[in-house]
Formats: sequence, structure tokens, C-alpha cells
Amino acid sequence: MADPILSIRNVSKTFGEFRAVNDVSLDIHAGTITGLIGPNGAGKTTLFNVLTGMLKPTGGTVHLDGQNVTGFSPDALFSLGLGRTFQIPRPFAKMSVLENVMLSPMAQVGERVWGPFLGAAKMRDQEATIRKRAMEVLDFVTLAPLADQAAGQISGGQMKLLELARILMGDPKLILLDEPAAGVNPTLTKTLIEKIEELNRDGKTFVIIEHDMDFVMQHCDPVIALAEGRKVFEGTADEAQSNPVLLDAYLGA
Ligand code: ADP
Repeated sequence: MADPILSIRNVSKTFGEFRAVNDVSLDIHAGTITGLIGPNGAGKTTLFNVLTGMLKPTGGTVHLDGQNVTGFSPDALFSLGLGRTFQIPRPFAKMSVLENVMLSPMAQVGERVWGPFLGAAKMRDQEATIRKRAMEVLDFVTLAPLADQAAGQISGGQMKLLELARILMGDPKLILLDEPAAGVNPTLTKTLIEKIEELNRDGKTFVIIEHDMDFVMQHCDPVIALAEGRKVFEGTADEAQSNPVLLDAYLGA
């Protein structure tokens, strides 16, 4: 198998005495959609926060495409192609949907546009380029008709699509999604899944935290489970479906 796009070795994160992530090692292979499951408090979000540079690990290493990125800042990781959404999207509520996408840090990473020494005309050119790209991305996530609406007024599901759009401004290779389907109506969940699968066919790799087991079993492979900060299962969706521990904990069997 090819080298993993993301390689995590013995990663731990403690808060005081409490070990939220405990000696986790796992590999994410390019082109996969990995489902990360586990009960509340298992350490899934903390692990995402470590992987995206929002928290520094207490121990262990993270390699992205073979490069040791342990402790790198979120900006540095963005520029290396790592994008991430949040469980609860936090757009700039008073700005338009389009402006939110244009202000994506990924746009700035991709184009390096806001250099202080650019002339006014050049700035306008660059802004036009970003606006065009932002409209293309909004079109892709089906939000183009809402481009001028205030981001605070769109639905929760539309906000998740907006988050995906913001990430796509930078053409990331690895995308971490935190509960993309939570609180999203079935129509928009279907749209979101279609977009994830389309991006995946184009070569993008996903890691998805999700509580909806139908979503995980239908769309994620492999599946990794955390419990109390530790990795307790790693295998195919089929294996997950017949694993007694997981069945008991998550599938209500
Ligand atoms: P999950 O995403 O699997 O629900 P989290 O990663 O959010 O789990 O949380 C794992 C554990 O770490 C929980 O017990 C949570 O209370 C604790 N935790 C998370 N962030 C902090 C923090 N900043 N300070 C102290 N404890 C935290």
C-alpha cells in the first residue's frame, strides 16, 4: 500500500491530569473516506484539534505526506493542504455567504494575495480572481443562489455546505469533517454526501467524525473507533458492522 497521507504515532493530549487522547496511532491512506466514531467524550474532537494545529499534542508525532508537522500552526497546516470543518459552524454572520468564502484563509493561502506591497490595480485583479473562484466553489456546493444572503440567516445544513466551500478555496488534499450530518435535514445531507463523494473521486481524502451510524456504514471505509481516548477498533465498515463491541456500544444490538 502507498505511504499514508497522514500518519499519527502515539499521540496523546492531556488536560491537567486528564488524558483526552491516549497513545493513539493510526494511518490515513490517500483516497479514503475514514469514519471516526466513538461515544461522547471519546476524544475525537480533541484528536482533530491536535491534527489541525489548534492544540499541541502532549506526546507523539503527526506526519502529513511524510513531513513531520507535529505542533505546526493551523495556518501552516492549511497551506500544506489540510482543511477542517467544525461541529458547529461559525461563519461571520453579518457578512454575505460569498464574502465568507472569499475570506477563507484557504483563499489567502492559495493566492497569497493580500501582500502589503501590491498596487491598488493589482489588488482589484486579485480580488476579482478570488471572487470568481468563490462563486465557482459556491456553485459546486449548490449555494450560489444564496451568495448575497447574510451567512447568519442560512440554515444549519447550508452553513455546513458553506464551511465546505471555505475549505475548497485552497484545494486541500485532506479534509477533516466534524459531524457533517448532525442537525442537517435529509435533502441537504444527501447533497453533502454527493459532494464529499465527488471530491473523493477527484482524489481528496476525508476523515469524518460522525454519530449517524447509517452514514458511517454506507459512506466510510475504513472505520476507526475511539473510546476514553484510546483507539479501540480499526477495520472495514463490514467488520465494524459485525464487531460485538461496536454493535453493543453504537448499533444498539
Ligand atoms: P468527543 O469529540 O469524542 O466527544 P472530546 O475530544 O470533545 O470528545 O472530549 C474528550 C474529553 O476531553 C472530554 O471528557 C472532554 O470533557 C475533555 N476535554 C476536551 N477539551 C477540553 C479542554 N479544553 N479542557 C479540559 N477538558 C477537555
